[in-house]
Formats: sequence, C-alpha cells, structure tokens
Amino acid sequence: MGSGRNIDEAGRRSPRRLHTSRTLPSFPTHPGLQSITGLRGALEFLEWPASEWTIKDLQDWFVDHLVTPGLMKRPQIVREPGATPVMLDPRADGGSNLEELIYKARGRVITALRGLIAPVADDRFLNAAIYGGRVRRAAVGGRPVWVASPREIDFLGDIVLSLLAADILLDREFYRAHLCICEVCGRVSFKDSPDARGVCGEHRSHVSGFTPRVR
Ligand SMILES: [Zn+2]
Repeated sequence: MGSGRNIDEAGRRSPRRLHTSRTLPSFPTHPGLQSITGLRGALEFLEWPASEWTIKDLQDWFVDHLVTPGLMKRPQIVREPGATPVMLDPRADGGSNLEELIYKARGRVITALRGLIAPVADDRFLNAAIYGGRVRRAAVGGRPVWVASPREIDFLGDIVLSLLAADILLDREFYRAHLCICEVCGRVSFKDSPDARGVCGEHRSHVSGFTPRVR
C-alpha cells in the first residue's frame, strides 16, 4: 500500500471542536508539570491538522493558554515567515491563509523539536527563545522555573516554541528520554519505551518492517 506517507492527515481524526476537547492522550504525567507550564497549550496546538483550525479556534487558543495565564496580550494579527499574516478576528475571513500559516508554524515547531532528540542534538531554538526574551526566569512557590513571555509581534511558531522552551528548560532530560515525533504524521507525544519513539500508535503498523530506525 505504498510508502504509508500519503496518509490523509485530516482524515485520521473524527471531527472535533478545539474548545471542547481537553483530553490529550499524549500529555505526559509528570508531577507538577500541568500547573506551571504552557506545555498543554503547545501540545494542543500541535495535536490537530492545520486544515481543522478556524480563526475562532486560534483566538480561543491564545486566550486559554497565553492571555488568561498572563503570558502575553492578545495579538491583533498573527504572523509566520513565508505566510500571509492573518487577522485574529473571527469576523475576518482567514480561509486558506490561516491553514497555510498554521501549517508553516506547526512545521517549524516540529522541526525544532526533532532537533532536540536528534542523535546530534540541535537545541538552538532554546537559546533563541532565551535571547529573544520569549522565555524568562521566575519563581513559582519558591521554585525556580522558566515562564513563556512571547510578544504580540512574535511569529506564531516562536510563540508555540516559547511555551515548549519554558518547559524543556526545566527538564531537558525528560524530553530527550520520552519525546516521540511520528515520522508519518508529525504527531508529538511522550512514550516510556525508546523503541516506539519514531512513530505514533496509529502509524506503527505503517512503518514497521521497512523503515530503518537510526538509534
Ligand atoms: Zn502518526
């Protein structure tokens, strides 16, 4: 059945509404993680194909994960390199521009994450977030943490990466040990077993047997 790479990504999930779906199967169980980080927001952004997002979804995502927690003001316009900027206003017609923008931002985030777990790690996005001021040091309950601090003018991919960077900087080894990025669909999840790290549960049967795994 071919290479298995031409799987229709949009068809792999039943219809959903972003703002009612709060269950993330890929969310790691890590003590304290949930209360102090924007990881949930980043995973929610990565969880669904670009074609499924509406401007309202994106606006709600910003409010839930960035504006309400006090990490940034709500942007008027969302940007990403190589994509047409999109007004963050549900009355505006984002159309194909929104899909392209999210597709590019998602791709950039996944590429950065792949670097983190590559045999020769490339974690330049962490330094870029620090020196770009998109993460800052803080203390929560007397404990030193990193907090995402993106600005409205930042690119969407960098905003998502700032949520991830704040968490990765706290516990880089957790990510190196458990992060899984599917070779077929790009899905980001967390696994206990290093054997399964190249594919998500849905695509294991598509790639096993002919995809050599580099360890
Ligand atoms: Zn997959």
